[in-house]
Amino acid sequence: MGNSIYSAALMDHNAHPDNKYDLQDATYSHDGINPSCGDEMTLKLKVNDGVIEKAAFTGHGCAVSQASADIMADLIEGETVEEARRLSGLFLGMIQGKELSDQDREDLDEAAELESISRMPARVKCAELAWRTLDGILDENGE
Ligand code: ZN
Repeated sequence: MGNSIYSAALMDHNAHPDNKYDLQDATYSHDGINPSCGDEMTLKLKVNDGVIEKAAFTGHGCAVSQASADIMADLIEGETVEEARRLSGLFLGMIQGKELSDQDREDLDEAAELESISRMPARVKCAELAWRTLDGILDENGE
């Protein structure tokens, strides 16, 4: 694994996804699919009074899609919907090759470690899937 192009955070979240389970008291659920790789996920959120109290996902896919979903769930849990949308915008910008400020990098925390994916065109949609599904779940429910 010494020559892996993937970061330690990615490998770790893929191997041990803390947020991969079927959230029982979810308020929202949304399916996301990345046909180019075959990644599929169902994202579930428990939103209460504009705050994402819980985020979890189920499904299957490549290491990048799974790790990105787990890292995202860690990041948005406890955040307001507004902040989660801002973080999603930062992440998607980064994956599309936009330069991050130091503050952005700090705000994205472990998610910023997926920055190298922006230079792997075949994996970009994999990394984006969870975040696009997050935007979808919020749009669909008027959050
Ligand atoms: Zn994938």
